[in-house]
Amino acid sequence: MSSEKKSDLGCFFCNPPEPKARYILSGARAGICDVCLKKLADQLSMIENRGLSENSEGRLATAISDSSVEKPASLSKQDQIKAPKDIKEFIDDYVIGQDDAKKSLAVAVYNHYKRGLYLDSSSKVEVEKSNVLLIGSTGTGKTLLAKTIAKMLNVPFAIVDATVLTEAGYVGEDVESILSRLLQEANYDKNLAERGIVFIDEIDKIARKSDNPSITRDVAGEGVQQALLKILEGTDVNVPPEGGRKHPNQKFIKVNTKGVLFIAGGAFEGLDRIIKQRLNTNAIGFHKSSDSAKVALSEDHIYKYASADDLRKFGLIPEIIGRLPVVTHLDALDREALKRILLQPKNAILKQYEQIFAWDGIKFSVDDQAVDIIVEKTIQFSLGARGLKSICEKVLSDFMYELPSSGLDAFVLTEAIVREKLQAMDALG
Ligand code: ADP
Repeated sequence: MSSEKKSDLGCFFCNPPEPKARYILSGARAGICDVCLKKLADQLSMIENRGLSENSEGRLATAISDSSVEKPASLSKQDQIKAPKDIKEFIDDYVIGQDDAKKSLAVAVYNHYKRGLYLDSSSKVEVEKSNVLLIGSTGTGKTLLAKTIAKMLNVPFAIVDATVLTEAGYVGEDVESILSRLLQEANYDKNLAERGIVFIDEIDKIARKSDNPSITRDVAGEGVQQALLKILEGTDVNVPPEGGRKHPNQKFIKVNTKGVLFIAGGAFEGLDRIIKQRLNTNAIGFHKSSDSAKVALSEDHIYKYASADDLRKFGLIPEIIGRLPVVTHLDALDREALKRILLQPKNAILKQYEQIFAWDGIKFSVDDQAVDIIVEKTIQFSLGARGLKSICEKVLSDFMYELPSSGLDAFVLTEAIVREKLQAMDALG
């Protein structure tokens, strides 16, 4: 094998060529650039040290040849972690409202990664992990918040659905598969995965069905919560690289979850009743009678008052509550917030359509009244901001079909058009 600055063979692995490549080693039939070579060497040593399954090795070539895939950078001590205020400012560009959740998350993330940086240093006080629990109805931005933070930190980010998890021995996925996803997101770079963020969605669905601990075996509930404990806290976990269920003879990758930030989210339907009951009972008890002493609670902000005891009554076991020490809430989105979501964030829904039409040389704009009607319809759907996108799709799909071949260079979405399309939608049921 000979090395040379420029080889006719080029690098067999990267396409398009790695801009950072300094030289190419060429063999009889193929060449490889120094950047790909380094990646290969890293991946190979990882396989040798950890023992990847054959299937995963197969992925390696794809991962390396796809040099367009941006690999998340690992955080080093030199990396400046943004201060909580700056983290919130970054999230503000993408997520509308939800200030309480943004602030709690910003602090939790800041402390988590600072703690990670100084984990091995001589700090006398050991700072415990600060996993986060987000409580809020569907479509209020829980996933978006977690995703945005991961984007800011440029760390691997995995979303897992708690409802597919079961305790060992039952049909479903083992809890370790949570970390398989994270490993996949990190292109099987164990060190990167160990600093990643996992969003566990629908954590409320694995609540115990009753807060009576003597209830008979509850496969989908308490057992999974028990299995999650160790992972949340921070320990070495044997992870099946391909996820799913563990089986004999399988090779595992050992992942330490000390530096992994877990953000759990759920709608917690029914928790509002538990909170109200507690608050009103307390108020009555304190004032010794009279309905007038009842706490006036705004329906939209009730989750703000959630306590550990409320969560226990809902069906989370105390140990899980203890491992999700930062509890924060997302408010229901009102008209104003929904309107802003349509128009304001960096990748706001209407900005996306503007881009789609612009590709065909069409200037797309929307009347203010048209926006109001879309928002009104979304509120009827009770799907939070999730409804905005599906309504816009229904209203605009015919236009996205017809306009590119129409020769028009401008299109205004008016109140009349939206009304007409929504009426047609209602007629279809
Ligand atoms: P959840 O996880 O709470 O059910 P998501 O975060 O998945 O909801 O939100 C669904 C979609 O709705 C997002 O992709 C985003 O487009 C929009 N969305 C929801 N909440 C917000 C928000 N607060 N600000 C901006 N967009 C939002």
